[in-house]
Amino acid sequence: MRRKKIYEGKAKILYEGPERNTLVQYFKDDATAFNNKKKAVIEGKGVLNNRISEFLLSQLNDIGIETHLIKRLNMREQLIKNCEILPIEFVVRNIAAGSLSTRLGIAEGTMLKRPIIEYYYKNDDLDDPLVTEEHIEVNGWASTLEIAQASETAFRINDFLIGLFRGVGIKLVDFKLEFGRVWNTDESRVILADEISPDTCRLWDTKDEKKLDKDRFRKGLGGLVEAYTEVAKRLGIMPEGSNIMEIKSGISKTIKLKKK
Ligand code: UDP
Repeated sequence: MRRKKIYEGKAKILYEGPERNTLVQYFKDDATAFNNKKKAVIEGKGVLNNRISEFLLSQLNDIGIETHLIKRLNMREQLIKNCEILPIEFVVRNIAAGSLSTRLGIAEGTMLKRPIIEYYYKNDDLDDPLVTEEHIEVNGWASTLEIAQASETAFRINDFLIGLFRGVGIKLVDFKLEFGRVWNTDESRVILADEISPDTCRLWDTKDEKKLDKDRFRKGLGGLVEAYTEVAKRLGIMPEGSNIMEIKSGISKTIKLKKK
């Protein structure tokens, strides 16, 4: 059956869903960095991100943080609520790294005094510039109330994820969130959308600070699928002995995913 493609992004495709106000989110194996200047196909990445993001978003749903996730459908797809994505990336940081270190000259690995949030305007032509709350408000990308609600939720998610990852020997350095607007007759609210995965977080092993995230691709370190598999194993969502080749194909029926 051919489905209607709604949108194709760098790492995911959105298809029309089976019911009104639903979509199917498909996780590709494509990896991109530096605004599409570096590209590769990394077999198995989509399967791992689908599983990891499903796990994290369902944990958030369980603690009362509304997300777009309805359920995972198969190894590469999720059923999600359709929402109007705000054109803003909400980046939460606990430890200096990446663009924060480069822009402000703060050594990578420096613990920040408290978690901070940054806003980036999603626009490839402009290279996703860092923007202020006022830029967002005056351009009508989101209202002041929406920014406040999404930011408060982002900090709650940070508190929850720091603990969750700490418990499995991983430091949550920073991560990116996206929010979407959903309507209830004439009232709207913002809910968490997109994904939370090693593609959108910086995750360091607590013991040796080994990078278990997309920086392995950005920095050409190799071993990306192995690192994402390690994250999934530690989260208890992949049986120890499962075969990376099976994950890579994304079609194996032999991988028994543990039920919560
Ligand atoms: N990030 C992301 N998508 C983007 C930009 C950033 O998921 O388009 C994530 C990135 O993986 C990291 C955090 O947001 O966990 C902060 O990224 P940073 O601003 O340091 O940018 P980068 O160094 O990745 O260019």
